[in-house]
Amino acid sequence: MALLQVIELGKSYNTETRVLKGVNFDVKAGEFVSIIGPSGAGKSTLLRCINRMVSISEGSILFDNQEVSRLKKKDLRKLRTDIGMVFQHYNLVPRLTVIENVLHGRFGYKSTLQGVLGRFNEDEKARAFYLLHKLGIEEHAYKRCDQLSGGQQQRVGIARALIQDPKLVLCDEPIASLDPNSSKIIMDHLKSITSELGITCLVNLHQVEVAQQYSDRIIGLNEGEVVFDGPIHQLTDDK
Ligand code: ADP
Ligand code: ADP
Repeated sequence: MALLQVIELGKSYNTETRVLKGVNFDVKAGEFVSIIGPSGAGKSTLLRCINRMVSISEGSILFDNQEVSRLKKKDLRKLRTDIGMVFQHYNLVPRLTVIENVLHGRFGYKSTLQGVLGRFNEDEKARAFYLLHKLGIEEHAYKRCDQLSGGQQQRVGIARALIQDPKLVLCDEPIASLDPNSSKIIMDHLKSITSELGITCLVNLHQVEVAQQYSDRIIGLNEGEVVFDGPIHQLTDDK
């Protein structure tokens, strides 16, 4: 049974340009799928359609058997809990500590203006520390995020996405701002922690080699259309 079904998806930001056209694919629970394609292909837009950051223009997206475009406010909140996001530029609050950033992934920053740790119960804190431990950054828990390297900040980004125990995590170019060494650390962690927790992963990447190394399956996107969808060995054979 597919966790995510994208059916004849079309997206236009304005009337002239169709950024996504007739996109079809399924993602099964537990899969690690990469989306590859050049800049401007529509990868980011595709992820934003899935968690309803933007509305779709045509077709449908079924997540966990629910039509994403029809969700009401309450269900939309549930959708955002079930779908974690990891960003290229981490999107952390720089002045807050690592542990605060991670815990705020549960409620959003707006609801926590006066902070801080006292707002969270012991179970929530324990889960946050468990994730930091797994990601190898537990020792930095009380440092401000702006004191960390890019690779460390992205590990905070991953912990923040996973604190809410999502079913799916969407990663939008998670290593595009990192050097090769940090990129490897991030991809290794992302792969092992999502596999251990049984979380499905959909990752935008622009390096084919990275996608081949880590994914069960690759979806190639070009000018808003799916141009490849299959296991990684097929991509190698075709080339
Ligand atoms: P990718 O992630 O593959 O680089 P994007 O989804 O970011 O691709 O962009 C696909 C196309 O959609 C690009 O031509 C981009 O300029 C356009 N686009 C992205 N976001 C917007 C937006 N908010 N408004 C209008 N056009 C946009
Ligand atoms: P870029 O890669 O263009 O520099 P970011 O990676 O910072 O941009 O953000 C990508 C997109 O995600 C932006 O359109 C932004 O509006 C959106 N975004 C940023 N922060 C969040 C957030 N906390 N939750 C959901 N979407 C966000």
